[in-house]
Amino acid sequence: FAEELETQKDLPCITLDGQAVVLQVNTGLLTDVYRSLDRGAEGVGLYRTEVAFMMKDRFPTEAEQTEIYRSQMEIFSPRPVTMRTLDIGGDKALPYFPIEEENPFLGWRGIRVTLDHPEIFLVQIRAMLRASLGLDNLRIMLPMISSISELDEALHLIYRAVFELQEEGIPVSMPELGMMIEVPATVYQTAAYASRVDFLSVGSNDLTQYLLAVDRNNPRVAALYSSYHPAVLQALKYIVDTAHEVGTPVSICGEMAGDPAGAVLLAAMGYDSLSMNSASLLQVKSVFREIEMSWARDLLDEVLRLEDPMVIKSTIDLALRDAN
Ligand code: PEP
Ligand code: MG
Repeated sequence: FAEELETQKDLPCITLDGQAVVLQVNTGLLTDVYRSLDRGAEGVGLYRTEVAFMMKDRFPTEAEQTEIYRSQMEIFSPRPVTMRTLDIGGDKALPYFPIEEENPFLGWRGIRVTLDHPEIFLVQIRAMLRASLGLDNLRIMLPMISSISELDEALHLIYRAVFELQEEGIPVSMPELGMMIEVPATVYQTAAYASRVDFLSVGSNDLTQYLLAVDRNNPRVAALYSSYHPAVLQALKYIVDTAHEVGTPVSICGEMAGDPAGAVLLAAMGYDSLSMNSASLLQVKSVFREIEMSWARDLLDEVLRLEDPMVIKSTIDLALRDAN
């Protein structure tokens, strides 16, 4: 089976009725990058910068970060590399920056930490900008935004970093800027966010966790955690419809995008790109090559009328099995 998938490597991700689907990869380590390039990833949809921070015993310097980011962008150039600013807190702790809280997933996480520590944020942005010199494939993405003022504040800091570097004689250019939709509150303000940024990307892992009030890592409630819950699907559809009304592209980078059932639904909803772990790329591509997008849209209409996450998931899985 694995060998059969290998034959897909150089084939385009296109459905039987000629609809191209953009597949991107989620990275953290350089090994993810190498593994995904020869599997046809059309860019990095999510580079988790915290992975590099976790492997150190102190915050990496601007020069160290520049080097790490440069290698990601260089390897993928000219394809886009979406770098997410530091997303620590929740389940991701840095040994040298402990955060002790009773409710870490509802606490000091992601952009909340870096807006409280603009010096950490600015060093990271400067490093990304310097790393992109001459490549111009950088996209910067903000995690865990929950209000417009947080987005405005973060954008302001990015403009400041660009301006300061230019003042220092380093000819950096403004990258594409985007944010994650992963806090339910942002779903209802999709239009306002979409009009302020160049792109949106849905973090379905956290969006599912927060919409359903189910800890994404707690085995005791794992059966309740499903991105196929009708409430999650309605939110996902609302986001893409609303972002497109404003003319802003929207991708998705949660685990759901790497599951064939999820990938097919999301593409049918109109998501502009699907970003997944490198291990999922070939399988997802092979599924798209064997279906028609019109069929996927009919399937989407059908499952949006269903009310149970398990029934929804098995309906899609069965339909895919029959189709392949
Ligand atoms: C997500 O929340 O879906 C996501 C992609 O980010 P992370 O898993 O790193 O929180
Ligand atoms: Mg997340």
